[in-house]
Amino acid sequence: MIVVLPPWFPAIVASALLASASLGCQADEAPDHISRYVDIYVISSEATLCAGSLNAIDRYIERAFDFLEESIPAGFSIPVYVGGDLPRTYHGFYDSSTGQVLLKDFETSRGLRRPLGVLRHELTHAIADEVWGQSSAFFTEGLAEALSRPSAFINDVPPPPAPIERMLVEVDSLEIDYLAAARFVRFLVDRYGVPRFRQVYQNSAGLSLQETKDLLEEVYEQPFALLESSYLEEPTVCRLEVDQCDPEETEIVVGGWSKTYLAACEDPSFIGAASADSSSSGLGTSWTLQIEHSGDYRLRSLAPVTLSRCGSCAVQNSIRTSFGTDMSMFLPAGLYVVEVEHGGDPHGVLDISLTPEIAPVEGSP
Ligand SMILES: [Zn+2]
Repeated sequence: MIVVLPPWFPAIVASALLASASLGCQADEAPDHISRYVDIYVISSEATLCAGSLNAIDRYIERAFDFLEESIPAGFSIPVYVGGDLPRTYHGFYDSSTGQVLLKDFETSRGLRRPLGVLRHELTHAIADEVWGQSSAFFTEGLAEALSRPSAFINDVPPPPAPIERMLVEVDSLEIDYLAAARFVRFLVDRYGVPRFRQVYQNSAGLSLQETKDLLEEVYEQPFALLESSYLEEPTVCRLEVDQCDPEETEIVVGGWSKTYLAACEDPSFIGAASADSSSSGLGTSWTLQIEHSGDYRLRSLAPVTLSRCGSCAVQNSIRTSFGTDMSMFLPAGLYVVEVEHGGDPHGVLDISLTPEIAPVEGSP
């Protein structure tokens, strides 16, 4: 059982969660939503799933398998139950004994998370469990968070990396700093590749601290202290955008780029969920852009935007704006994702644009 929670939530005995959660009670009924890889059963929810959500969930699952360098098993499908009886502070968990994901609601804390971020986190547990099996809490949460990063709209300025040694042992997942675990996982994967990380992931469950360090030293062929100090010296720019950058949906930007879009849950490009009174609404959409020429660009948007540069931790960067953005910035050529977020009343026709301050010079990089 894996719980996703920000580290500031109080610890609750894990067994109490299992005992109080109602799992599988809808197993004989037809799912309320069916996608290629998930069957969603709504036990209770005030929110309606937005039109683009199922497609986005499927694309995320495909990208997660790609990241792990694994193919999707035939017939792979994850049952998701929404609105079960969860303790107040829990937003969701993956139960490895049943393979089920349970969510408190589609969206429970708009403004703090990306739309469907908690679901993506829990689905990542299900995917890793399917292809790699169980791991220690640190690597389990680190991997899920590294891929899904639900909390897009907090931690805009990541703190410098801190030592992770104390979290390596098998502890309650609530004692783990999820951001630190995610960054360490990305460090290991980006620098040394997936196969070695897979070795660590598959062999770290139940190990003592010393055994975990021995495992890392064996896999990475260096003293643990050296591995950790290399991690601590990494630039602190990792934005963990694996889930949001979708190279298959890229729009090429040579000159300017602009969109006029209808901000509505019914729009097929919008993901997340909305409720009639907006209390459990959290929805947004995104575009992946290939910017061909480095230069100064002007970003204009009525809605809050997160503009992130895709790629490894070495190049990732992110800018978060508020309502009524009109700002100039230098953007190196590369792959970017533009996310807009809507809480409250999401309806309306909105404009967004990213235009060069001066026309690109022919042949410039
Ligand atoms: Zn988790």
